[in-house]
Amino acid sequence: MKILTRDKFVFAMGTSHEPVLKVDPGESLQIETEDCFSYLITEPDDSVEENVDFAKVNPATGPIFVNGAQPGDLLKVTIKNIEPDVQGVSIVMKGLGVLGHKVENSQVEIIPIKDGYAEFAGQKLACRPMIGVIGVAPAEGEVLNGTPGDHGGNMDTVDVCAGSTIYLPVFVEGAYFALGDAHAVMGNGEVCGTGVECRSVVDLTIDIDREHDWRIPVIETEDNFYFVGSGETLDRAVEKATDEAVAFLAETNKISWNTAYMLASLALNVIVSQAVNPLKTARVQLPKSLLKM
Ligand code: CA
Ligand code: ZN
Repeated sequence: MKILTRDKFVFAMGTSHEPVLKVDPGESLQIETEDCFSYLITEPDDSVEENVDFAKVNPATGPIFVNGAQPGDLLKVTIKNIEPDVQGVSIVMKGLGVLGHKVENSQVEIIPIKDGYAEFAGQKLACRPMIGVIGVAPAEGEVLNGTPGDHGGNMDTVDVCAGSTIYLPVFVEGAYFALGDAHAVMGNGEVCGTGVECRSVVDLTIDIDREHDWRIPVIETEDNFYFVGSGETLDRAVEKATDEAVAFLAETNKISWNTAYMLASLALNVIVSQAVNPLKTARVQLPKSLLKM
């Protein structure tokens, strides 16, 4: 199994950095990820203002060149395990998150992660490790890792976790895959702008899918598909995710688009992934039990 260490990272998805690894479809990898603050906040008395360098946030390990991946394919990434570090960090700061305008003083919390729990504010929160940033190069230029989009990126979606398969549209030859920004635990929405931000070690396999023609990231779990839309507003994110989900439902079940649209309204769930990044992300949960596959 190939191992990629966390010192090989990029702050944007694109092709301007040479790939740090080349893999064949079907290969298993172990990838270390850095935390979203580049491990610059590790002690309780570290300060947001002094320690965080906002030019160095959301490092993603990579890019990885996937042999044979071509524009129009989907990269198929199956996450086997995410092992969080023994501690993580959460912060609040002025302007960050949905209530950032109400924050008067920054706060840093170093949060112990032990025996599957993160301990904070007198609570033992069951860890559900997830990856915030996972993506490929866009068709042109670069997208900073803080921003999500059709290429993936900072989707901050809790279903990007062990046991899930993530499908990402490929826009350039080799895909230029990268990932980082693990959270030991995070709530839907990520309202203050941080989860339990931590380093992690991720076991995954990378493959190529040519069966589907999705144009946005899709997550497959044992029981559901999640169509992940990102846009300027949550409205736009919901629209993008719903559009793809309804098209897939109509095509798979061989029903009209109108019927699929109505069925979606009855049986699909829209869930906010994150409401705090430069583009917002929502997902539509499509239970596999609805599909006539
Ligand atoms: Ca994030
Ligand atoms: Zn994060």
